[in-house]
Amino acid sequence: MANAAVGIDLGGSHVLATIVDGDGNIVAREGQDIVDHDFEVVVKQIGESVDALLSQTKEKIAGIGLGSPGNIDVATGTVRYSPNFGWHDVPLGERLRERLKSPVFVGNDARCATLGEYTHGTGRGTANFVLLTLGTGIGGGIVAEGMLILGSQGGAGEIGHHQIRATDGFICGCGKVGCFEAQASGTGLIRHALALAPSFPRSTLVSAKPEKLGSKPIRKAAEAGDQHGLAAWTRYLDDLARGVANIIAFVNPEMIALGGGVASAGDFMLSGLRPRVEELTTMVPRGHTKLVVASLGNDAGAIGAATMARRGGLTTAG
Ligand SMILES: [Zn+2]
Repeated sequence: MANAAVGIDLGGSHVLATIVDGDGNIVAREGQDIVDHDFEVVVKQIGESVDALLSQTKEKIAGIGLGSPGNIDVATGTVRYSPNFGWHDVPLGERLRERLKSPVFVGNDARCATLGEYTHGTGRGTANFVLLTLGTGIGGGIVAEGMLILGSQGGAGEIGHHQIRATDGFICGCGKVGCFEAQASGTGLIRHALALAPSFPRSTLVSAKPEKLGSKPIRKAAEAGDQHGLAAWTRYLDDLARGVANIIAFVNPEMIALGGGVASAGDFMLSGLRPRVEELTTMVPRGHTKLVVASLGNDAGAIGAATMARRGGLTTAG
């Protein structure tokens, strides 16, 4: 198992620590649910997960990479801010290097997932690639000319917060109106269904308790031909297409891979999305950006974090 590295995906409710071999296969995994967002408690949980993981192997590990939500100073691994954890300027990289006595690289979780899909998933073989993860929010990342783009402050790829309906959209978690994420994440699909509820007074699609509402039943209802579900899905696709077409105009990628829960709809989503995107693609040649479903699922972040550790950074070409 040459060239194995540890890849950690830190989420708001779970930490997943993995050993990833040089081919991008996860060969061991350990995890813990996160119940307390206190920085020291989270560092302790990450440390315990990595200890448990490394006790399973005698292989030499090339390094440790961790993807965290938030804006990260990749040079030091300091999390400048993370709304998910309520952190400001916490020295995550430094504390983990002390705790694990090993080189530790920290990057944004969505950028790590992009690197994972690009190096070992559906983006392999492309040079211009974008990942969009349609979950609670929209995570993303851009690879241009073979390089993952981080920008001057690590903020490049925050695709979820470009506004696509600034005057008639939903309020985003970031405070702006009509962000791509507010409209076209899994949560966005729920918002569309809720907004359309008065038009379907007998529909039971959004009658679950608010905390139990998920995007999956709405997507499934649309697939089954339910009128309320289809109306929400149509609006959802219109908004998803706006953002995707904007990305095509910004970076003209060969491929945009869609991950996250909503992308489980597969061809049902892609067949509706493609013609809408075509229609909105104007100054870039149409029909050249492949729209596909991402292949690594929830493992993309951990695999990309391991790649980051192996490369010695997020942008370093492998
Ligand atoms: Zn926003």
